[in-house]
Amino acid sequence: SDNKNRVHGRRPSIDGVKDIIAVASGKGGVGKSTTAVNLAVALAMECRLRVGLLDADVYGPSIPTMMKLHGKPEVSKDMKMIPIENYGVRCMSIGFLVDKGAPIVWRGPMVMSALQKLTKGVAWGDLDILVVDMPPGTGDAQLSMSQNLQLSGTLIVSTPQDIALLDARRGANMFRKVEVPILGLIENMSCFKCPHCGEKSYIFGQGGGRHTADEMDMKFLGEVPLDVEIRRTSDEGTPIVFSSPHCGVAEAYKNIANQI
Ligand code: ADP
Repeated sequence: SDNKNRVHGRRPSIDGVKDIIAVASGKGGVGKSTTAVNLAVALAMECRLRVGLLDADVYGPSIPTMMKLHGKPEVSKDMKMIPIENYGVRCMSIGFLVDKGAPIVWRGPMVMSALQKLTKGVAWGDLDILVVDMPPGTGDAQLSMSQNLQLSGTLIVSTPQDIALLDARRGANMFRKVEVPILGLIENMSCFKCPHCGEKSYIFGQGGGRHTADEMDMKFLGEVPLDVEIRRTSDEGTPIVFSSPHCGVAEAYKNIANQI
């Protein structure tokens, strides 16, 4: 039925939102936000879902840049912030509320209350799926987000590098502890194909993502290459799934989105 959520039997704790899916990584800089953005756009464009994107990476909000959004959210009659939309995705980020470049030096409790406002204090409307770009790591913020939001599931992003995979395992174990279903692992920056000769280089190692997924009994959802176009479109705020929807990289993201 239309009221049923797609992913799991849990009932997310935001009214009108059927599923809340976290995109997590044990470590920063592995491409978690880039993945969250492109999957959100793929879920909207390719899977035709009503999609929200919450930037919960409060210390390093990058969604405004990656989704080419600026300005402050309007406030609804019932005093909720109205998400700002681009590429068919309704977005909310702490980056809309603080000045660009200003350091966010909050202590734990302030982070928690900011996250509370960014989730429940937002007029999301009816959504099939809310994608949450989680803060990196496995601390308090991640734990309370997982518990308070009643996440339907989580995706784990890692590069094939050993230290990144080690942290990805830590992340996976945290979600298992709080009984959030792990939907699978995405390997980012898998390989680099030389634009001149076409030779493939495995800069961060080869096969590590699949191996870790197998060992941890997680589904392996796919690989995304290290590609200058991903970096460029991400900096420019035109996610590659939107700007080059038929290229191999966009197909890789769509393929992952279709498995969610
Ligand atoms: P995280 O959210 O894990 O900190 P980001 O998504 O912000 O990581 O990515 C870190 C940097 O790496 C960004 O500049 C981004 O554009 C770039 N990046 C991420 N994934 C790729 C990729 N597959 N190929 C090229 N650059 C990438």
